[in-house]
Amino acid sequence: MLTGVQVVFIGGDARQLEIIRQLAELDASVTIVGFDQLQNSFHGVVRSGLNDSLFETTDALILPAVGTDDQGMINAIFTSEELKLTEQQVALLPKSSCVYTGMAKPYLREICAKHQIKLVELFDRDDVAIYNSIPTAEGALMMAIQNTDITIHGSQCVVLGLGRTGFTMARSLQALGAKVKMGVRRSEHFARAFELGFEPFYIKDLAAQVANIDLLFNTIPTMIVTAQIIANIPNRAVIIDLASSPGGTDFRFAEKRGVKALLAPGLPGIVAPKTAGRIMAGILNQLIAEQVQERGNGA
Ligand code: NAP
Repeated sequence: MLTGVQVVFIGGDARQLEIIRQLAELDASVTIVGFDQLQNSFHGVVRSGLNDSLFETTDALILPAVGTDDQGMINAIFTSEELKLTEQQVALLPKSSCVYTGMAKPYLREICAKHQIKLVELFDRDDVAIYNSIPTAEGALMMAIQNTDITIHGSQCVVLGLGRTGFTMARSLQALGAKVKMGVRRSEHFARAFELGFEPFYIKDLAAQVANIDLLFNTIPTMIVTAQIIANIPNRAVIIDLASSPGGTDFRFAEKRGVKALLAPGLPGIVAPKTAGRIMAGILNQLIAEQVQERGNGA
C-alpha cells in the first residue's frame, strides 16, 4: 500500500488514467493537474491547478510518456490550459522526491540534475520496453494492414534491428505467416535470428536485401533506410519506421520516389492506451513503494 505517499500527476493522455486509478486504489494521496476536461471522477483523487505549493510536499511527480518538450511544456490532452514545468518548481521538490516519466528531453534531465532530484525514465527499463513492444507491434501491424492491399500472410517483410521491439515485431509477423528477413549487425543476433526461423542478413548488405519486399519495419534509431536503400525498394513496398523521432528513414527521398514511408511514434499510447497505462502503473507502483522504503531506511 502507498498510504500517505503524496503523488502529483501533471498532464498526459489516456495512459495516465489507468495509473491514477491504480495508485489511488493503493491509498496514495493523489493530486491531478491538467485533467479539468475529463468526465470520469476518481474516488479520493484531488484536482488542482498548477500551483507552486503542490511541489513542496510531493513524493512522486508523475509526468506523461514524454515528460516535457525542450521548453518545459507538458503534453496534456484533458485540458486547454498550457502546462509548463519550470526550474523553480523542480527546485521546490523535497530532495527525497522523485520525478517519473516515460522518456525525458534534455530540459527535464538538466533541471532535475541541477536540483538533485532523481529522475526515472521508465522506457529505458528493459521490462517496460519489452512489455511496450507488444502494443507497438500490434500498432505496426494495424498500419501495415491499413496501408497495403495484400495480406500479411505470405508477404515479404524485412525487420531491421533485433532489439526489444524488433524481436516482437518479427515474431508477430512470422506468427501471421509472413516471410521475415531480419537485418542485424551482430553475429550473435544473426545466429539467434536464424534459430528463430527468420532469414538473417547483415545490415551492411541491406541494399541487396530489399529488392523484392512488401513491407519494411525499422527499429534502428539512426539513419539506416537511406536514399540508396530506398532506390532499391519496389514502389509497392511500405516502410513503417518505428524508431523514435526522427526515425531512421530518408522520408524526403521516399516521397520523391513514390515509396510510402510512415513514421509511427507512440503506438502503445495510440492503439492500446489502457494496456500501456497498465504497463507503466505496474512498474510505478513497485518503484514508488521502493522509494518510500528507501526513505524509511534513511538511504
Ligand atoms: P533496442 O532494444 O535498443 O533495439 C535497437 C536495435 O537497433 C538493436 O538491435 C541495435 O543493435 C540496433 N542498432 C542500433 N544502432 C544500430 C546501428 N547503427 N546499426 C545497426 N543496428 C543498430 O531498442 P528498442 O526498445 O527495440 O527500441 C527501438 C526504437 O523503437 C527506439 O528508437 C525506441 O524509442 C522506439 N520505440 C518506438 C515505439 C513506437 O511506438 N513507435 C515503441 C517502442 C519503442 P545492437 O544490439 O547491435 O546495438
